[in-house]
Amino acid sequence: MTQTKSISLSQLPAVDRLLNLPALCSAIDQHGRQTVTDCTRAELAAARELLRAGHALPDADTLALSIVERAEKLARPKLRPVFNLTGTVLHTNLGRALLAPEAVAAMAIAATSPCALEYDIADGGRGDRDSLVEPLLAEIMAASMGEKAKEFAATIVNNNAAAVLLALDTLAKGKEAVVSRGELVEIGGAFRVPDIMRRAGAKLVEIGTTNRTHAKDYAEAITAKTALLMKVHTSNYAVVGFTKTVDEADIADIAQAQGIPFMIDLGSGTLTDFARWHLPKEPTPQDSLAAGADLVTFSGDKLLGGPQAGIIVGRKDLIARIKKNPLKRALRVGKITLAALEATLRLYRDPDRLAQRLPTLHLLTRSEHDIAAQAERLLPPLAAFAGEQSSLSIEPCMSQIGSGALPVERLASAAIVIRYPGKRPGKLLAALEARLRGLPQPVIGRIADDALRLDLRCLDPADEVRFCQQLELQQA
Ligand SMILES: *Cc1c(COP(=O)(O)O)cnc(C)c1O
Repeated sequence: MTQTKSISLSQLPAVDRLLNLPALCSAIDQHGRQTVTDCTRAELAAARELLRAGHALPDADTLALSIVERAEKLARPKLRPVFNLTGTVLHTNLGRALLAPEAVAAMAIAATSPCALEYDIADGGRGDRDSLVEPLLAEIMAASMGEKAKEFAATIVNNNAAAVLLALDTLAKGKEAVVSRGELVEIGGAFRVPDIMRRAGAKLVEIGTTNRTHAKDYAEAITAKTALLMKVHTSNYAVVGFTKTVDEADIADIAQAQGIPFMIDLGSGTLTDFARWHLPKEPTPQDSLAAGADLVTFSGDKLLGGPQAGIIVGRKDLIARIKKNPLKRALRVGKITLAALEATLRLYRDPDRLAQRLPTLHLLTRSEHDIAAQAERLLPPLAAFAGEQSSLSIEPCMSQIGSGALPVERLASAAIVIRYPGKRPGKLLAALEARLRGLPQPVIGRIADDALRLDLRCLDPADEVRFCQQLELQQA
């Protein structure tokens, strides 16, 4: 017995002989000798295990094929593109906003060429990286708020959580910040207003109740230790029923009367009026500043449609203090982010074409009719993929904007809904969902109410052919 095994094992080809096979020579060209050698050793070890378990010996060509497969798998990036059919447009776990080609091109240039990141080309002196986008922001805001936009300055950090942390650390460290209990939000991924406050060394003073906060609650909370009144856009939930919040303008009046800054964490914050595209109204930084806020913070990769960034806009003296904080240096953004942000903001100069050019806005403004027509086209390949036992239908559904924007308002869309008629469809649905996730470009849907739901809002029609091809290659 032992003897047979050793004879079989000795029949396994040597590493060097395998590496000389044409298939592996071209794999070496592609992936490098080291990688292919490692993969060869790993496959030989696996073959040895098979032999020991009494299985047949794979021939050299079969072995070569699995070596190439192993090398290709290794070469595949971990950060892979997926099809987002979850129905949530700005999906934080799937990377939020998609950048416009203009932003991608600007990133490539900034990445591959020296650029004037902190260099003033006009006078040859040192420049400020924030000045790459500050005038553009002012220009965009001026469209709705006029000359007043020039009174404000801006600074950019890594994300909105960093923006809030930095602003609190600068303005309220060792002092008190007043926030309504109804706004002590938790955003996904461990951003909690009370925690950020603590980290910034600010003492949180909670006012009002979960459902109702009044102007007098703000006024009465102010003491000699108060450094800031803060409002947080309750971006991922809504309190309905017997509720009261205080208008930004009223809080601003109270703050101003006491000489205390008023800051608003807007979360998403779009720079344009969504009414133009018949989208639900979302607060803008312009509205907040016009209402009297001294500082506004918002994300770059939510409704703005740009790269991950945190944007702080507000009173020049406060922004100057923020920029002097050593934390600003730790939280600053790189040239690639700034290149993408600048290019994205430039698109806002031409609002007429914004919905065509800004992918996020394009997805948000797709009509239910278009999406339903797309569903008709995709039904047959998906039916073939889901197998004979499945039953598919096209159903109206409601997409979510996501990332905290407009938690209640939804967008009418269409979904392909896959069911397995029978008593316990759970296993079949889970298997189908896993097969879709296992595709070269994984398809991410949502199982709910005994059905797999694929909301097609975020499937760019330009990607349809590719979407169908991979389904056809791996049919049931
Ligand atoms: C999303 C959000 C944040 C966090 O912003 P990031 O850019 O993800 O860091 C903070 N506050 C509010 C209200 C938000 O909606």
